[in-house]
Amino acid sequence: MEPAKLSTETANQVITCRAAVAWKANAPLSIEKVEVDPPKTGEVRIKIISSGVCGTDNHILEGKNEIPFPIILGHEGAGIVESIGKGVTTVKPGDKVLMFPLPECRECDSCLNPKGNLCLKGDVLSPTGLMLDGTSRFTCRGKKIYHLYRTSTFTEYTVVHEIAVGKIDAAAPLDKVCIMSCEVPTSFGAVFNTAKVTPGSTCVVFGLGGIGSAIVMACKASGASRIIGVDINEQKFPRARALGVTDCLNPRNLKKPVQEVVVEMTGVGVDFAFEAIGLVDTMVAALESCNLSYGVCVIVGAAPSNSKLSFDPMLILSGRTLKVAFWEVGLSLSCCLSQKSRHPSRSLERNEGQEHGILCL
Ligand code: NAD
Ligand code: ZN
Repeated sequence: MEPAKLSTETANQVITCRAAVAWKANAPLSIEKVEVDPPKTGEVRIKIISSGVCGTDNHILEGKNEIPFPIILGHEGAGIVESIGKGVTTVKPGDKVLMFPLPECRECDSCLNPKGNLCLKGDVLSPTGLMLDGTSRFTCRGKKIYHLYRTSTFTEYTVVHEIAVGKIDAAAPLDKVCIMSCEVPTSFGAVFNTAKVTPGSTCVVFGLGGIGSAIVMACKASGASRIIGVDINEQKFPRARALGVTDCLNPRNLKKPVQEVVVEMTGVGVDFAFEAIGLVDTMVAALESCNLSYGVCVIVGAAPSNSKLSFDPMLILSGRTLKVAFWEVGLSLSCCLSQKSRHPSRSLERNEGQEHGILCL
């Protein structure tokens, strides 16, 4: 099938295009012809140019998260506005945009509280797979297809609420900036906002995939003096070193638990520990790696639905702090997108974020 073309003639019409549909868990994605409805009030239809492939998409495909199927996955995307629904004022057809898995309605309790991050108009905690009006914009072979986090980027066209769309500079390279929708704000937010990594500090990062790599970049930008990287896949090590990791550990090659090795290497445990894998065991290992009195552990990885995190309360009673970082959309919309920003995420202009898989459509 020919890729669908961007044209003003498609406004108000159903667009037929290609999408990667996940019909069920633990099965390959299937490239299908899908129908994408026009945007309703407050919605934007976007031609996707590139999409990140996040570990969370992988968890869903592996059946680890409770999500309705069939679904179009992908939640970090860059594209061009094709058409807008009634009432949309912040973007227009032809604009380059990013779309975000967490919206920012700026009206709900969470948005109005300066400490809130989880907009109540999002669909991330117990996903329905539907837009705010309770319906879907995707159909395939006569069947309703669900949206992922009201984003769905593994498709040539998608429909997103305006409150989850941010206009970006016309010169932005759309094949690269998609990771500004999830990987970069999540990881940089974890380091700058949540942990507040300090110059000269010691850090450990569990998991050196897309999220872990961006955490390493942010720790380095914060002036950390030592960054220990932990991964079972040693192919990740050369790139991690290039990004700022000073010591690489493969837990499978160690004679004792990795957290004991980290404490021995640093003498007293690290100042800051990050978990970017999504397993409860590595979350506890990260907590145990940090200093017993002033260490800060930030969990970024998403554990499987219904799993339980359990650990000896003495680990935090002694003084450690346990925190989490969840899609820092405020960073995405207010900081990364600002062309005036001096935020270190601008270093992505040097392509350093491309550890993450990027799908160009
Ligand atoms: P990824 O698959 O790119 O990276 C995961 C890394 O962990 C890989 O390098 C893998 O080799 C390594 N790994 C797997 N098992 C391991 C183990 N037992 N010990 C050490 N290393 C191990 O995934 P990603 O895109 O970097 O995402 C990482 C995690 O972050 C996922 O759980 C994802 O769901 C989560 N996530 C959370 C948020 C948030 O807002 N908190 C946002 C995006 C992603
Ligand atoms: Zn809100």
